[in-house]
Amino acid sequence: MNNLFGLGTKNIGIDLGTANTIVYVDGKGIVLREPSVVSKSTKNGEIIAVGEEARDMIGRTPSSIEIVRPMKDGVIADYDTTVAMLKYFIGKALGHSSGKPYVMVCVPTGITAVEKRAVIDATKVAGARDAYVIEEPFAAAIGAGLPVMDPTGSMVVDIGGGTTDVATISLGGIVSSRSVRIAGDKLNEFIYQYVRQKYNLLIGERTAEQLKWDIGTASPEVAESINSVPVRGRDLVTGLPKSVDVTAVDINTAIGEGIQEIISTIKETLEETSPEIAADVIDHGIVLTGGGALLRNLADVIADATQVPVSIAKDPLDCVAVGTGESLKSIDIIKKKQ
Ligand code: ADP
Ligand code: MG
Repeated sequence: MNNLFGLGTKNIGIDLGTANTIVYVDGKGIVLREPSVVSKSTKNGEIIAVGEEARDMIGRTPSSIEIVRPMKDGVIADYDTTVAMLKYFIGKALGHSSGKPYVMVCVPTGITAVEKRAVIDATKVAGARDAYVIEEPFAAAIGAGLPVMDPTGSMVVDIGGGTTDVATISLGGIVSSRSVRIAGDKLNEFIYQYVRQKYNLLIGERTAEQLKWDIGTASPEVAESINSVPVRGRDLVTGLPKSVDVTAVDINTAIGEGIQEIISTIKETLEETSPEIAADVIDHGIVLTGGGALLRNLADVIADATQVPVSIAKDPLDCVAVGTGESLKSIDIIKKKQ
């Protein structure tokens, strides 16, 4: 394919998320969307499976296999496993096409220079001809279709697996931003703990997440009107399997504190912005991206608490990847900045 870098070279954008990795190929769009999970042999460290296949092994592994999530809170926690995972994803995304790709990877705002370097190095070792990074909220805003280059303020709140990132953006840059380590995974953990305490029931990580998707809501009022669901797990006292009816009110109570923290972070960011940008945000509203944006009634609850209109971006799970990929088009500008 003919592109900025000449024949045969592909440009790809990678959203290397804590929960999911999404790959965007220039000219094709999103070609891959898989969990950021790797399974390895505990004997020799050999990679057994990556992505979806590895995710399906969670909670079902014999002692010879361990499950690794190489990304934690948006940064690389396990370098070698990240390289292996990236190699697999890049290979899968490009298929048989020849030539090493130029790769843009998004990173959380406020990560250290060392953490940033690790992402660039890992991407090169995984097969990139060259690698660049873009700040995640900026990519999210591009992907959400916000006018990031215009002299007007936009606010994007990206709620992922590990972190919630709030940023105001204007004239091609991030004006203010905040990040908290409370997002989808923490909500799952709160659910796990609540069910354990209230019902003496031990549930799996994926069961907690499924509960959030199925009956989770940010609104205590709405929770009253959602039916409970039976949940299977292990009784803490007897050690035997048991089933318990868990209510939407339970889930709402469990995640309530987490939601409040996300709201406080948004409010603090709003309070820090200039009056001009605050006025722009009131006009255009706050845009939510990331998988966490899909939590029922979250947008309404944030709108209520901030008194600013809130909307969910189209395809919120894909925004960062799309924005990362799209930003490759202005790679010359980005190169100069790095
Ligand atoms: P990351 O960028 O950190 O990989 P994502 O943007 O992919 O994260 O979002 C993943 C998070 O979104 C997970 O914690 C997941 O539970 C949550 N999520 C996905 N769909 C829903 C849903 N329908 N309701 C609530 N949370 C959801
Ligand atoms: Mg993300």
